[in-house]
Amino acid sequence: MSTIVSVDVSDVRFPTSQSLDGSDAMNPDPDYSAAYLVVRTDAGDGHEGHGFVFTIGRGNDVQLAAIGAVAEHIVGREVEPLLDDMGAASAELIGDSQLRWLGPEKGVMHMAIGAVVNALWDLKAKRAGMPLWQLLARMSPEELVSLVDFRYLSDALTRDEALAILRAAEPGKAEREAQLLESGFPAYTTTPGWLGYSDEKLARLCREAMADGFTQIKLKVGADLDDDIRRFRIAREVCGPDFPIAIDANQRWDVQAAIDWVQALAEFRPHWVEEPTSPDDVLGHAAIARGIAPIPVATGEHVQNRVVFKQLMQADAISFVQIDATRVGGVNENVAILLLAAKFGLPVCPHAGGVGLCEAVQHLSMLDFVAVAGTREGRVIEFVDHLHEHFVTPTVIEGGAYRAPLTPGAGTEMLAESVRDYTWTGAHRVATAAG
Ligand SMILES: [Mg+2]
Repeated sequence: MSTIVSVDVSDVRFPTSQSLDGSDAMNPDPDYSAAYLVVRTDAGDGHEGHGFVFTIGRGNDVQLAAIGAVAEHIVGREVEPLLDDMGAASAELIGDSQLRWLGPEKGVMHMAIGAVVNALWDLKAKRAGMPLWQLLARMSPEELVSLVDFRYLSDALTRDEALAILRAAEPGKAEREAQLLESGFPAYTTTPGWLGYSDEKLARLCREAMADGFTQIKLKVGADLDDDIRRFRIAREVCGPDFPIAIDANQRWDVQAAIDWVQALAEFRPHWVEEPTSPDDVLGHAAIARGIAPIPVATGEHVQNRVVFKQLMQADAISFVQIDATRVGGVNENVAILLLAAKFGLPVCPHAGGVGLCEAVQHLSMLDFVAVAGTREGRVIEFVDHLHEHFVTPTVIEGGAYRAPLTPGAGTEMLAESVRDYTWTGAHRVATAAG
């Protein structure tokens, strides 16, 4: 037996607002940040658990305080019972009745729980000597189902239905794992599409994305319709008539405005319309989906928990499920959402980018391919080429696909020197501004 001796937290912020990387219609000046934690034990095996919540700057300290409140649950605890029953560990953290009052199961406190849960998964995968995707994909259907809290889900997905989905995916698991190792998981890139870029830069980055092998790009929209029409026309001309080009409004519109704006862009045939309105507005998404059909709606990066995902699916409001590694209650709740998507027959196309989101979420799509949905068809993981150099196991993209990581862990460990150099001191240092 070993004991968790500390959970150390760091307020890490990168000055990305100085280059307009990451600018969109609602977030013009993000400083990509991580409320970061490290779980340390007395096992003497050198293994630590790393996790984080992605934020975009101000409020990272608030997120960190929430992580500190959750971490009290695990400091001083024996490691093995926690890691051996991750379903119970997750349920215990979510079930703290006093902290639950601050949600329930939504927002800063829920994301803090997710970060702690993910750090425990990182530790568990390192101890198992496997990358997280493989650890999860090699679990039995019973073990995977034991991770999921079916409370509030059973009107749409029962434990028995989840088991049936996983058992149906068992044949061929070894072959799909081999395929994954051979050819990776398809990626799309948002790099060309940030609002702050010039038309020339947009066209150049579209050409580069195609040359790099990406099979889809995405444009940020929603600030100015004339600009969007011009930018979408440029992208369509560069990429050709059949290349998938998604658009992302980052919650910019009211329901009718979303319908009107997307219809004005319909001639360019958006592959999907992402986050057209408030992430909480299930009925609004359903109305938009009806109003812009057959153009599909996608959302999820700000969907706060499995319950809202369930309703979006029940209401036929979305066609693509965009899970996020640090928005909900961690790996466990994302397994629930993968199972919901499988039940409703919807492709999971994760949100990524930010800092560390690509490194973390790829494991969930790879689990989905090997052991849940059983296919990569129509699925892509977002990729943005920012800040990967700060991670111990940065994502590897080849030919427009994520290579399956082989290093043990969840991909969530940042380089110690990056944590040190970018720890927030109240102002970004001038020396980092050019970086
Ligand atoms: Mg988005």
